[in-house]
Amino acid sequence: MKIICIGRNYAKHIEELQNEKPSHPVVFLKPDSSIPPKNHPFIIPAFSEEIHYEVEVLVKICKVGKHIQQQFAHTYYQEIGLGIDFTARDLQTKLRQKGLPWEISKGFDGSAFIGKFLKKENLGDLSSLPFSLYKNQEIVQQGNTAKMLWGIDELVSYVSQFFTLKTGDILFTGTPAGVGKVAAGDLLTGTLNGVENFQLKVR
Ligand code: ZN
Repeated sequence: MKIICIGRNYAKHIEELQNEKPSHPVVFLKPDSSIPPKNHPFIIPAFSEEIHYEVEVLVKICKVGKHIQQQFAHTYYQEIGLGIDFTARDLQTKLRQKGLPWEISKGFDGSAFIGKFLKKENLGDLSSLPFSLYKNQEIVQQGNTAKMLWGIDELVSYVSQFFTLKTGDILFTGTPAGVGKVAAGDLLTGTLNGVENFQLKVR
């Protein structure tokens, strides 16, 4: 399986990182080795001094598709989840400044934390789905899919022009504003549609 991630999909997050607003979705991949083992804490890697959390809504692909039209995109997923796209921001900034690919800052082991998946029919309107991240009980990110520059169906359609989507692939749909650094001992709690979705310890 593959993990397809979208960058810069919320205007306020683009502002906070002083990035340019893209004319098309920014797409990158994480390898399957970036998924941590179940029930493991997030372990801060030795190569970074600045690991950021990015809470994101996830889409699990349920059938094979290529060149999917937006109007049929919703038939390619049945479950929606929540996760964290951990990012070695210091490494990413350095690589970006040089115009180099930033895979290692985004795809390292453990960087794709995946919480619970829920049946989409139990989540109501997916185009106005609230989600949030708490760090040590304090709210740090508050998002709503209504604020996406490209919605879920547009993203599924867009990425399928380049990558054949396969059953089990996971799409990370981008993070809202409020990204920040994690430290050993932090507890990250994610909520989707007002319901706790995951708790993750940082070590
Ligand atoms: Zn992200």
